[in-house]
Amino acid sequence: MPEVESLARFLTARCVGHVVARVELAAFSALKTYSPPLSALHGLEVGSVTRRGKFLDLEAGGLHLVFHLARAGWLRWKEAQPTTPAKPGKGPLALRVHLDDGSGFDLTEAGTQRKLAIYVVDDPQSIPMVATLGPDPLTEDFDEAALAAILANAGRSQIKGVLKDQRTIAGIGNAYSDEILHAARLSPFKPANTLTEGELAGLYAAIRHELTGAIDRAEGLAAKDLKGEKKSGLRVHGRKGETCDVCGDTIAEVSFADSSLQYCPTCQTGGKKLADRRLSKLLK
Ligand SMILES: [Zn+2]
Repeated sequence: MPEVESLARFLTARCVGHVVARVELAAFSALKTYSPPLSALHGLEVGSVTRRGKFLDLEAGGLHLVFHLARAGWLRWKEAQPTTPAKPGKGPLALRVHLDDGSGFDLTEAGTQRKLAIYVVDDPQSIPMVATLGPDPLTEDFDEAALAAILANAGRSQIKGVLKDQRTIAGIGNAYSDEILHAARLSPFKPANTLTEGELAGLYAAIRHELTGAIDRAEGLAAKDLKGEKKSGLRVHGRKGETCDVCGDTIAEVSFADSSLQYCPTCQTGGKKLADRRLSKLLK
């Protein structure tokens, strides 16, 4: 989500006040809505670009172009968009937006996963995954009491899953939940409703600190540099086998839901390796 927040700020600086000249769709499967059509955006002035959880919302003339980049999706800003029409079905290009001064951006998706999702709607709340978003951890009213209530409601669900669930807290993904739990020195498998007061305070501080820290590091970076910055700023996520820079232990990995997570045994689990619970479930 910090990258999405940074993209929102990047696009705000470049798009607001400009008119959408043309929008071209290259990956037909990425567009999840058909009415209003994409062409309804043509000629409308961009009023704002905001983040909703991990979604970006570009508002123009009361219409909303909303998109979710997913893991392999990205946004490429171009000072001068090509004038030749985009070729559908070729390469990573999914959507091309042209602004009135010739600049614009491309939404792209690498690989074959096809998870990039684009919507054109009158009201973002008509998108189910936006309507069900939980509170945003960077807003003013997300305080320690709000987090405590969320964790109490989550019962014995593992804290890693609670942090990642967009319906519980909006905007924290796989990478930053690993970073937050490492900073808070909590086991990813700890039941959500068993945190002590001290652990709760530590978790709250870690959420704020990790997210705002990542946004600050990304400040002023071009869209194309944000992914590299994200990777270099992570201390445990994606670093299996590397050394924990807090304690010197080796960062470990365990399967979780449909992917995997990384953690430091010394910092987070009293030195114990976590067992793959998916596998043990299958064996029962
Ligand atoms: Zn450590």
